[in-house]
Amino acid sequence: MSTNKYILAPYVGVGMDEKAMYMGFGSLQKLVINKTEQTLILSAAQNWLVPKTEDEMIEFLQKEKYFSKDDAQKAVNYLKQGNYLMKASYDKNDRYSRPALYYSLSGADPDLVQEKLSNKHVLIIGCGGIGNHISSALATAGIGKLTLIDFDTIEISNLTRQTLFTEKDEGKSKIEILKRELLKRNSTIQIDIIQKESGQKDDIFPKCDLAVVSADGNSVVSKFNSYAVKNNIPYINVGYIEDIAIWGPFVIPGKTGCIACAKLASNTPFEITSDEDKKKWEIIGKINERYQAPSIWATNTLASSLAVLDIIRYLGEFGEIMSINRRMGLWTHNLKLDFQECPPNKACSVCGGGV
Ligand SMILES: [Zn+2]
Repeated sequence: MSTNKYILAPYVGVGMDEKAMYMGFGSLQKLVINKTEQTLILSAAQNWLVPKTEDEMIEFLQKEKYFSKDDAQKAVNYLKQGNYLMKASYDKNDRYSRPALYYSLSGADPDLVQEKLSNKHVLIIGCGGIGNHISSALATAGIGKLTLIDFDTIEISNLTRQTLFTEKDEGKSKIEILKRELLKRNSTIQIDIIQKESGQKDDIFPKCDLAVVSADGNSVVSKFNSYAVKNNIPYINVGYIEDIAIWGPFVIPGKTGCIACAKLASNTPFEITSDEDKKKWEIIGKINERYQAPSIWATNTLASSLAVLDIIRYLGEFGEIMSINRRMGLWTHNLKLDFQECPPNKACSVCGGGV
């Protein structure tokens, strides 16, 4: 039997109407209809406002409340299995206390998750809108080390979504300013910076637990994909296609498909055999040369937020990663959620199905 002391988790609210008692809110909520069960569970919940072990609670419910041992055990199991309990060591003043409630609600041990996060190293490839939001989320969540990679300087036209930059930073290096701003928000983590343009020949990246790739252009992602598969680096692609916020695929070499396993983009040149097609492709090239992606705060933050959920679940080792083997897309005009499947493909020229 465990000697751990527990408390009723602070996120557990209780409600009641003529039909039922409601344990928890949000996705946690369960209905208790039976009146005796209501009394039993409410007794256990009330008495777990102060720390107790499971054994102490079972004994208390028997001695003080005259429930049978079976009923007492039933109440304990109910609260435990519903993720309604937390270790009594929970400290609401701790820096990471609020995310700890989310991890606990998700069925994970918050201390273990936080320890895992603090030992992880994440590369942020591309420090624009997506890179700003994701690095800020990961730094404040306590990821042990971040390496910021970008070659660009800050422009006034970046400020609508690259929210860690200010007017005074115009012309300065993105990675230097981002590092400065992230350390203001969490000085306990390590941040390295690498000034370079990704997608070049013979790119080399530091060893890491995960890379977040949000650099402009399909070729950067496709080149990084080959590098990641070869060097066994898990990564997630995050961005937007016009007005659709995109996250995934989440590629774990050896376990999932890679981005080349499926044809996710329509502008991949095919083998050109006729003069007619050659002419068309020249025109297409000219048209696409002046392409500029629409980029607003909402598409950047939505894609970043949804990706961060998958990233934290992966690094903290709990829950289910939504973008495994698929690229997820949230349409910002009608909130339609769709995805493009990207499962391991034996015919893939990069990973060969990899699994
Ligand atoms: Zn592949």
